[in-house]
Amino acid sequence: MKRLSVKKKLTLLITALLLVLVTGILAFLITISNSVVTTNAYSQLESTVRANLTEISRADDGNLSLSEDFAFTRSGVYTLIYSDTGALLAGQPPLALPDGLSFENGVLRPIDASNDSSYYVLDFWLPFSWEDGVWIRGLMEVPESAGVINELIGISLLLLPLMAAAGGVGAYHLVRSAFRPIDQIVAAAEAIGEGRDLSRRIGLPPRGDEIGRLATTFDSMFERLERSFEAEKQFTSDASHELRTPISVILAQCGEARHAETPEQYQEAISVIDRQAKKMSALVNQLLQMTRLEQGTLKAMMEEADLSQLVEILCQEQPQSPRGITIQTDIQPEVHAVFDVTLMSRLLQNLLDNAERYGRENGHIWVTLRSLHDQILLGVRDDGIGIPADRMEQIFQRFYQVDPSRSGNKGTGLGLTMVRQIAVLHGGDVTVESTENSGSCFTVCFPCGITENNTLEKI
Ligand code: ADP
Repeated sequence: MKRLSVKKKLTLLITALLLVLVTGILAFLITISNSVVTTNAYSQLESTVRANLTEISRADDGNLSLSEDFAFTRSGVYTLIYSDTGALLAGQPPLALPDGLSFENGVLRPIDASNDSSYYVLDFWLPFSWEDGVWIRGLMEVPESAGVINELIGISLLLLPLMAAAGGVGAYHLVRSAFRPIDQIVAAAEAIGEGRDLSRRIGLPPRGDEIGRLATTFDSMFERLERSFEAEKQFTSDASHELRTPISVILAQCGEARHAETPEQYQEAISVIDRQAKKMSALVNQLLQMTRLEQGTLKAMMEEADLSQLVEILCQEQPQSPRGITIQTDIQPEVHAVFDVTLMSRLLQNLLDNAERYGRENGHIWVTLRSLHDQILLGVRDDGIGIPADRMEQIFQRFYQVDPSRSGNKGTGLGLTMVRQIAVLHGGDVTVESTENSGSCFTVCFPCGITENNTLEKI
């Protein structure tokens, strides 16, 4: 059998609960009303009959003697006196009452009369001696309200199926409107899952309940998914584009080498191949490292260490600049921070490589380190060619190069992207100030304590 949908199950459940609730409440009300009516009738019947009991005695001549206070009808109660054999001795029973009713001492009973009415009957045995006595019977017409209750029971039984149907329809509409946002969520997820429309959002109007939160969570997840799909597409196209150039140069140079007529031509072709292969290798290495960082396979190993020492050593260990550039440092001693030593070294190395590559011949590189209000400020400044004002943000994008010829075709366009990635992983960021033909200053700022859950999503 096909499984019922959650909507149908909920509808059935609500309808069943409604029915149980209504039936329960009706049954409770009817029982209570019945018992109130019966109790009132009984107490009236009993008190009247008992009051009459004391007014009956056996006279010396054997006849019954009724005092003045004895009343055959009082407050709607008939009192009748029967002999021990059941013969009516005194009193006038209602005409509609059936004959030959048996006696039950002290038991309240409802009796159906012939004229569609009913009576409560209460008998008492009144003994005069061991063997002598009479039956005193009290009769009272069942009050109107009791009849109304019985009618109510009948009507309720008739109405119950109708109520069930109405409850079911109401419950279905309620469940359907409650589930509408879920349907929207499912439709959006399906559209995205089938890759039809990544820009699709649920877009529920703001609501503060769980479904609203669910929709917002899904929307932000879809947002991230779209961004990551776009980034992946961009990455694949950029990477293949960047690799295509050196590969075609290598292939062309292989042809040149094969047909070289002089050893010099051969040497020239081989050295071009060597350069391009090194460029490809650097590109692939950087790409791999960046992807691992993004995917989290390369985890940042945060530890508390002396950053001043690291920066000092790295600057000292820089190879002699072929362009005559000198490095000057202004490092605040004993700056301790929580960072990944390898990644921080990579960040500084990338900035130093750029400062060397785009710096002025025989110029300077200034490296500064400061700790200010729990923030670390690491600066690398050069007096080189600078960056055009309208390119300041683009330079941090993957594969972006202001002009590849400026780096002598040595750059990959990945260095600054990685610098930003590492800064973000440390809970900070990198900024740049630059003036064309005058120099650039890159400043990395991050907190010196541990920062949790830094992801690369915002890049
Ligand atoms: P690349 O491998 O090309 O150096 P980067 O991501 O490190 O890639 O830098 C991106 C671009 O930013 C470079 O192509 C360069 O034009 C510019 N740039 C980076 N650093 C500097 C600098 N210190 N001075 C001038 N331009 C720079």
